Amino acid sequence: MSAASIGEIVWVVGIIAWYVVRYPFERRAKRVRVMSNRRSTTDTIGLAAASLGLAIVPALYVATGIPRFADYGAHLWLVGLGALVFAAALWTFRRTHKELGRNWSISLEIREKHKLISTGPYAAVRHPMYTSFLLMGIGQMLLLSNWVVGLAGLLGFAVLFFLRVGKEERLMLEFFGPEYRAYMDRTKRIIPFIY
Ligand code: SAH
Repeated sequence: MSAASIGEIVWVVGIIAWYVVRYPFERRAKRVRVMSNRRSTTDTIGLAAASLGLAIVPALYVATGIPRFADYGAHLWLVGLGALVFAAALWTFRRTHKELGRNWSISLEIREKHKLISTGPYAAVRHPMYTSFLLMGIGQMLLLSNWVVGLAGLLGFAVLFFLRVGKEERLMLEFFGPEYRAYMDRTKRIIPFIY
C-alpha cells in the first residue's frame, strides 16, 4: 500500500473518531438552556469555512483525488508525523469537551448556570479546542499529500478562529468580568507561552 493511501485511511479514521467524540455533546447541548445567544452571520461563516476546509474539501479529495494537480509526493515519515499530530488533535479535542461539559456550545452562547472553566487543558490556554482545530489542520496537511487540501484546512481554521476569538473573549469578559480578566492575564490564547 502506498504512503498516500495510508495517509488517506488515517485521515478517514481520524475524522470519524472526531465525530464520535463530538456527537454526545451535540445531543446533550440541546437539553441545556441557553441564556444568551451571540450566534451571528460571521459565526455561521466561520463554522462553514471550518467545515469546508477541515471536512468537505479533504473528504472530496479522498473520494475523487481532486485537485490532482496539487499533489505532492507522499512520504511515510510525513504520514507518520501527520498521524501523531492528528492523534494529538483528537486527544486535545476530547479533553476540552470533557472539561467544558455542559458549558459547551457549537457557537457563542452562555448556558444556564454557565461556569468559567480554567482547569485541565483550559489551565494551559484559553482556547484549547481551537488549538485542536489548528493541530487537525496541520495533521491534514501531512496526511493528505496535496497542497490545496492542506492549505484549505489551515485556512478553514484561521477563518473560524479570527472571526470568533475576539467576540468570544468579549462575551466571557461581559459575563465573568474580573474573573476572566485574571484568567486572561495568566494564559495565552492557543499556544502555551507563545500566543
Ligand atoms: N474557545 C474555547 C471553547 C469553544 S466552545 C476553546 O477553544 O476551547 C464555545 C463555547 O465555549 C462558547 O459558547 C463559550 O461560551 C464557551 N467558553 C469558552 N471559553 C470558556 C471557558 N473558559 N469556560 C466556560 N465556557 C467557555
